[in-house]
Amino acid sequence: MTDSASLIPSLPPLPSTVGPTVPALDLHMHSTASDGLLAPAVLVRYCAEHQVRWVALTDHDTLNGIPEARQEAEQQGVALLAGAEISSQWGNMGIHVVALLPQGEAAALAPSSVMAHAFAVVQSARETRAEKIAQRLEKKGLPDALEKARALAGGRSAVGRPHFAQAMVEAGLVPDHKEAFKRYLGAGKVGDIKTLWPSLQQVVQWIVESGGVAVLAHPLRYGLTRRRRGLLLDDFVAAGGQAAELVSGFENSDKIRDLARQLHERQLYASFGSDFHRFQGPFAPGRYSPIPEVAVPPVWTHPLLAPWFEAHTAIS
Ligand code: AMP
Ligand code: MN
Ligand code: MN
Ligand code: MN
Repeated sequence: MTDSASLIPSLPPLPSTVGPTVPALDLHMHSTASDGLLAPAVLVRYCAEHQVRWVALTDHDTLNGIPEARQEAEQQGVALLAGAEISSQWGNMGIHVVALLPQGEAAALAPSSVMAHAFAVVQSARETRAEKIAQRLEKKGLPDALEKARALAGGRSAVGRPHFAQAMVEAGLVPDHKEAFKRYLGAGKVGDIKTLWPSLQQVVQWIVESGGVAVLAHPLRYGLTRRRRGLLLDDFVAAGGQAAELVSGFENSDKIRDLARQLHERQLYASFGSDFHRFQGPFAPGRYSPIPEVAVPPVWTHPLLAPWFEAHTAIS
């Protein structure tokens, strides 16, 4: 995959500190390989057309979208980092960890590699969980729930709660996704089954052992108090996690600044991404809240990622 570096035309270097002028970079996005709207190639083309030049495709629990995205990225002059958003559990909570994999998808998926094992575990957990969700939703009036969710996910997609939500909307049980989550699929509801995911510690360990960077996804979106978020960050660091998303989509600027202090205290690097799934309100690839000027180093300066970003910078 490093060959692709020579095909990327002159990307400007990224700054070594963060501030409001950074983006052109998005390290958290979804495609049809999980629950996103756009096919991987279409997503990458959109990024190229909108000057988003460094991207990570981070579908839920799979690298399946990366080869198609890579082909398009090479044509479009977009620097594509292999990635995935991996499901884990911390206590009784579902926590997402973004794996940034500078070693590339081929190395990550090599037979008997750590990440190949990790993906096998989470994908099988996802399958078993889908069966359980389906059983529960059938009792709530959604016949053939699993078949419907699978069909909506398409052949290669990881079946997830958004596919069940869509099936419920189409069956007329709820008016929209939001209501489906509120009543049936959200935290604590009948279709919320978390206890099947590997532990946060395990997921972080797999990523780090494989040579990747583990990024705690959207720390402000778990409904945690500041104190409990601190405990989550402590456990994440103790497991070997290196970074957290300082800005994920659109969030309150005071909360982002406060999160920056929590990252700084733990010497975590800051990552940035839209968590794009579909166009809705301000959501689009490469778009997220302004980055505050803070004393947290950006994740592209992490020793495991800096060589990759340098290789994809200013090579003409
Ligand atoms: P899963 O990976 O199957 O657990 O599904 C989680 C995904 O569902 C998230 O990544 C979001 O894309 C989506 N999601 C979670 N909560 C909501 C919500 N309240 N409304 C709409 N979509 C949601
Ligand atoms: Mn999602
Ligand atoms: Mn997530
Ligand atoms: Mn996501």
